[in-house]
Amino acid sequence: MYLPAIAQGLAITIKHFFAKKVTVPYPEVKRYLGPVFRGHHILKRDEEGRERCTACGLCAVACPAEAISMVAAERKKGEENLYREEKYAAVYEINMLRCIFCGLCEEACPKQAVYLRHDEFVPIFTERDEVIYGKDKLVEKMDARYIRNNPDAQATPTEPSYSRLSS
Ligand code: SF4
Repeated sequence: MYLPAIAQGLAITIKHFFAKKVTVPYPEVKRYLGPVFRGHHILKRDEEGRERCTACGLCAVACPAEAISMVAAERKKGEENLYREEKYAAVYEINMLRCIFCGLCEEACPKQAVYLRHDEFVPIFTERDEVIYGKDKLVEKMDARYIRNNPDAQATPTEPSYSRLSS
């Protein structure tokens, strides 16, 4: 009397076993989120690997969540291959607990320095300090593309010790 129901249940199980999976094993595999997705911020470099941000502060003014803090500094002699213009952000921090990922900082930036990535979430965290993102987490990593355009970059520290406002 139960056999038809058991067979029916097994048939459904077997059908789903061989069907295309609708889930992905995150975080090893990440779904494409689409071009309008706004995630993890990035501070871009120019084509020679120099930081684009000139610490004008327009992103911080545009931010409705008051999530961005920065400290500007003057570029010194010999730092021309690190910073594109005379002024740069010695400290640049975004509080990801405040951020609402509206993208207004990206729109406000006149130097095309701040972008919200389309393919990267802000990772999970367990300590509040971890969500204050400084330049160590925001500045685009120096990669082969920049080193090819700027051979001197190999001699410069690609991961300088960035200052922090907090802690
Ligand atoms: Fe502020 Fe919006 Fe930029 Fe987040 S995405 S830092 S809330 S302007």
